[in-house]
Amino acid sequence: MPCSSGCHARPAHAGARRVGGWLAVATDVPSPPARQWCVVATVVLLLCAASTGGAQPAEPPPFAIGTTRVPAGARVDLDLPVPPGRTDPATSVLVTVFHGTRPGPVLALTAGVHGFEYAPILAAQRLRERIDTRALTGTVILVRVAHLPAFEQRVPFVNPFDRKNLNRAFPGRPDGTQTERIAWVLTTEVVRRADAVVELHGGDGAEWMEAFVGAYGGPLAAAQYGQARRMALAFGLRNVVRYTMRTQAQLDQGRSLNRQAVADGKPTVLVEIGENGRRDDAFVAPLVAGLENLLRELRMVPGASSPPRADTRWFDDTVGVSAGATGIFTPVATDGRPVRTGDVLGTVHDYRGRLLETLVSPVDGYALYGLTGPPVVAGDSVVTIGIPSASSL
Ligand SMILES: [Zn+2]
Repeated sequence: MPCSSGCHARPAHAGARRVGGWLAVATDVPSPPARQWCVVATVVLLLCAASTGGAQPAEPPPFAIGTTRVPAGARVDLDLPVPPGRTDPATSVLVTVFHGTRPGPVLALTAGVHGFEYAPILAAQRLRERIDTRALTGTVILVRVAHLPAFEQRVPFVNPFDRKNLNRAFPGRPDGTQTERIAWVLTTEVVRRADAVVELHGGDGAEWMEAFVGAYGGPLAAAQYGQARRMALAFGLRNVVRYTMRTQAQLDQGRSLNRQAVADGKPTVLVEIGENGRRDDAFVAPLVAGLENLLRELRMVPGASSPPRADTRWFDDTVGVSAGATGIFTPVATDGRPVRTGDVLGTVHDYRGRLLETLVSPVDGYALYGLTGPPVVAGDSVVTIGIPSASSL
């Protein structure tokens, strides 16, 4: 919460918890007294936000990242170094830090963990020009390209040297392979320096997608969910998924950057827009607009934010359907659409044209994204289906 006039000194309470300098109000407040306290806290925060026209807060100290100290009011482009490994070369993580002239939250926006997902990378490039640090409250760490080797070599899904998926390698290791070393830099220099994290992805090469946004909640992210939900809705995308973190194994197995952020206690949002290596403005422009609306919603920049859209489609988690055979995949459709249990999602043929498998939906839901193929390997996810919720989550 970007309150710069003393709110941070107020004690947290039973229904809300301090999360990295933010006041996160739990959505599942357990008791009426606690709920009332939340209303009080909300009012206090609003008053606090409205009172910034009074005494000017002191300028914040320099923001530390890597070996750099970014002064208040500055925008600094950094190539965070990833040192060489035993078998693969050095690289860097491309970052821009915007350090405002008023103290406030640190927001991490990360693009390019998958180097073939171009809409987020191009949106980050565009956003770099559009944040005025003189009008900024708090700090934005904008990762413009997280996975530079994959971007430069146009490699979808994985790293070109070790063939690992960066988004399954967190928290990473300082002495691992290149993927693991990049993850380590992102964990230590970006995620752990932030109060909240927004991961920007899209359909990768050979993936179609209907844009959606996800907010991380559930038992392991309950305190962060209210803030994450609010941030997610600021993007103005119609499809909203609540990702429920129930078990430690969910957080630990093949940990993504997002689940690293959840493990570190940050309100965490996933944005997915774009597909198939496309760079269309139809994907880039709404993402930039959503990011700018998020900054207004968090009161990090001046201006009123747009309210959540009235026609939001809520999904309570997703279900993936995987291929059981290797060969040539043919999707039934490559757009978002309702599906019913038993609907055919696609087929797999072998290289001699024989039908190996017909994949059907195991649930009633909404197909959000999937594989366009044609190659498919047994175990690949071919369609991901959102589970609709009857009410907002
Ligand atoms: Zn991705």
